[in-house]
Amino acid sequence: MNSSISLRLTSKEEDRIACDTCGKGIYVPDHPESDVNHSFHCNECGARIHLDANVIVE
Ligand SMILES: [Zn+2]
Repeated sequence: MNSSISLRLTSKEEDRIACDTCGKGIYVPDHPESDVNHSFHCNECGARIHLDANVIVE
């Protein structure tokens, strides 16, 4: 239950969304310079997540 993460398309690195795969890294946007990001990756293990819209990834 506590593994749910919530990401917004506008999430920035400052949001510090913990990686659900390794539990150590955080998801960072692939294009931090962009206002809207659809792809994020973990800065620790490299796990990728892709968002099509405002969704909750479980
Ligand atoms: Zn990770």
